[in-house]
Formats: sequence, C-alpha cells, structure tokens
Amino acid sequence: QHSSPAQAEFYQAVEEVLESLTPILEHNPKYRQQAIIERMVEPERQIMFRVPWVDDQGNIQVNKGYRVEFNSALGPYKGGIRFHPSVNASIIKFLGFEQIFKNALTGLPIGGAKGGANFDPKGKSDGEIMRFCQSFMNELYRHIGPTTDVPAGDIGVGAREIGYMFGQYKKLANSFDGVFTGKSLLWGGSLARKEATGYGCVYFAQYMLADRQQQLAGKRCLVSGSGNVAIYTIEKLQQLGATAVTCSDSSGTLYHASGINLDTLKQIKEAQPQRLTAYLKFHPDAEYISTADYPADGHAVWRFKAELAFPCATQNELTVADARALVENGCLAVSEGANMPSTQEAVEVFLKSGIAYGPGKAANAGGVATSQLEMAQNASMQRWSFEEVDAKLQVIMRNIYLRARDTAAEFGQPGNLVLGANIAGFKRVAEAMIEQGVV
Ligand code: NDP
Repeated sequence: QHSSPAQAEFYQAVEEVLESLTPILEHNPKYRQQAIIERMVEPERQIMFRVPWVDDQGNIQVNKGYRVEFNSALGPYKGGIRFHPSVNASIIKFLGFEQIFKNALTGLPIGGAKGGANFDPKGKSDGEIMRFCQSFMNELYRHIGPTTDVPAGDIGVGAREIGYMFGQYKKLANSFDGVFTGKSLLWGGSLARKEATGYGCVYFAQYMLADRQQQLAGKRCLVSGSGNVAIYTIEKLQQLGATAVTCSDSSGTLYHASGINLDTLKQIKEAQPQRLTAYLKFHPDAEYISTADYPADGHAVWRFKAELAFPCATQNELTVADARALVENGCLAVSEGANMPSTQEAVEVFLKSGIAYGPGKAANAGGVATSQLEMAQNASMQRWSFEEVDAKLQVIMRNIYLRARDTAAEFGQPGNLVLGANIAGFKRVAEAMIEQGVV
C-alpha cells in the first residue's frame, strides 16, 4: 500500500511490523476478528497545529506542529517531541507507531505517541527558542496531562526546550505536575534520564554479546550521531572498557583511532553547541570526513573496521551498502540507539548474516523506560538515587532483551530480535485492546 509517498517512513515502519506479525496472526484468529491491525495502524487522535512566533528581527514565522496520540491501551500516551526541519506527518506517525511497541516491550504501563515541529533550532537565539516553545505549548497544553499524555525530548529537544515548554504549560494549566519527562533535576527530573537511552543501548549490546560468549571490553565500536543518545552511548562504552572510534553529525563523520575523547565531545556538543569539525582543533590526529565525501551509496561512519556498531543519529542513516560493509569488516553486533536508523534492506542483511542485531524499538527503549521511572517518582513525590535508577534500567533492558529473544525462539526464528520485539510488544497491546472493547 505505497499509494501515499508522503507517508513513506510510516509505511516503512508499518510494513516491518506487519511482516513479523504473520506467525502470531496465523495462530490467533481472534486478532483478525477483532480488527486489531486495522485499529492499531490508525492513531487514536492526531493533532496538527499552527505554531506562529516572532523572530529576533521582528518577523512573524510560522511552523507546523504535530502530536500523534497513537495508542493508549496500556497507559497514558508517551513519546518524545522532535524539532527538526525534516519533521512531517509521516515521520511523526512512524515514530508514534514504533513507540507503541517499544513502550509495550518495556513491560511498563505506557501508551504510544510522538510529536514535533518542522522547526530548526540550529542558529536560533535563546529568546527565539523560548518564544517558539511557548507558542508550541499554547496549543499542545490542552491535549496533555500527567495521566493523559506525557511528552519527552527527542532530536532537537533537550533540557532547555523542555524547560520552556513546561513553564508555559504550568502557566496555562495552573498546575505543577509531571506532564513532561526529561525535566531538569531542579524541578522534578530523574537522575539518569539523560544517560538512559545511550546507556540502555549499550546494556542491550552487552546482553546480546553475552549470549554469544562475547564481551564488550576491548571491542572497537562505531557510533553515529553526536547528540544525547550518541554521547551517553560513548560514555557507557568507555566505562565498560570498549573504544568508540567514531561519531557524526549532519555535516560529517569524525574518526579518532585512539578513541573519541568524551570531554571534548561534551564540550563542543553540550556546553557550547558547535559543528564536529571543532573537535579537530583539540585533536589534530583525528580525521574528519565531510558528507560531500561520503560514498554515494551510504555513510562514511559505517565504513571503518570495528566489531560493534551503534547507530544513534536518525532514521535511515544506515543503507544496505553500509550494512554489507559492516558485516564484511567483521562486525559482531549492531545495537540501535536511534529510531529505525537501518533501512529495511539493511536489516535484512543483518538478519541473514547471523550477526546480533538489536532493533531500535528494543535497544533504545531505556530512554522511555526511565521516563516512566521519572513519572513514578513524580507521582509518589520521591527522588531515587542515580544508582537506583541505573539498576532498574539494567533490569528493564535485560527483560526487554529476554522477551524479544524468547519470543523469537517461541515463534521459530531464534535470534531474530525484530520478530521477537514486534510480536512481544504487539501481544501486550492487542490483549489490552480486546479487554477494553471496541473504543
Ligand atoms: P539529538 O538532537 O540530541 O542528536 C541528534 C544527532 O543526530 C545529532 O548529532 C544530529 O546532528 C544527528 N542528526 C539528526 N538528524 C540527522 C540527519 N538527518 N542526518 C545526519 N545526522 C543527523 O537527538 P537524540 O540523540 O535525542 O536522538 C537521536 C536518535 O535517538 C533519534 O532517532 C531519536 O528518535 C532516538 N531516540 C532518542 C531518545 C532519547 O531519549 N533522546 C529515546 C529513544 C530514541 P546535527 O546536530 O548536525 O543535526
């Protein structure tokens, strides 16, 4: 059903899920009788809205805002907000759809949603970011709430943006409540939330490797992206004795054979956001490959020799040629920090090659799982220590891995964590939908 090219990413995500559901649908006619698939692919509610704001020159700018509340069978809608010029209805729908299964797979009581705007935060002043966030919230506040819909960050939305959006929500709703996760530690945020997606994605790799009698320590790793997920993936890899030799942004890839220096990376990406080329000033022995010099069929970051790969930038950033290069270079495992970073053809290469492949909806679920821990702390007015949250994160990641692994084996495809994650997530949501009737 590719009749609507405008929704290419959404169809790609749906197709991947539906393909892997065939075995469970065949065994359970009730899912067809209950029109579960037809109901699941249609969001419960989609909000599209105008986001007008005034730039520093006094000009009125207008962006498109979105929130797709996809499925609330398991709990309040939950999913991040993305600010990036590429955002459109298809991208938000694909992310919201994936989020349903990811959240179900965590075993926690959260539904699936996603939101965003085609706004480019790059080069904007602090005042412009604040006015944009306030305008975005002027519409969104009426649709969200601590037991209705709890957004979080994503690409282009970090602590600063969440602060401005939360401030405006509080003013409009006249209520200080846990309506966002990823909040500042000063006013309700959870320790270890910032680190959770990256750390979780490394824990996931660790569990996949352990089942293959391998360990992380001493491994060379390729990481893409240089935002929240990439930085904390690199941090955890270092803590566990592995070496990340790459990172990237939308302009190019950095390769540092002796290992990416985390302090420098945090300095140029977190403290004073700059392009990755700034890294070379501190480490002239590193190498930079601009996107103009990428291979025509893929991305430079995946062409270096390494044993592990962690795509942590964005969707479709790893092509079939990239996947072949990884496998040929002896890659043992791929653990996805980003959402749908590998194209469908690339996923097929991984599955056929027999290397360990952890799809994003399983491997990057540590972020949303820790968001749910933030909600639990807010609702009970408690504050847990970093170690406590991190320990819970590790248990959750282990359980996600085991659920995906054991479900894949149960349905006759051992090792296929795509199938395992999709079926395990689907089953929880489908059963809850049936119990709640046709609503
Ligand atoms: P950030 O905005 O912090 O970082 C995104 C990184 O990816 C940046 O380095 C950015 O480079 C790069 N990037 C973004 N778009 C593109 C593009 N089109 N081409 C090349 N590089 C690009 O976002 P996050 O780290 O939070 O998110 C990264 C991925 O992880 C996304 O897929 C997100 O959905 C997913 N994810 C995030 C979670 C979280 O907790 N934050 C949870 C689960 C999944 P540049 O700065 O040049 O744009």
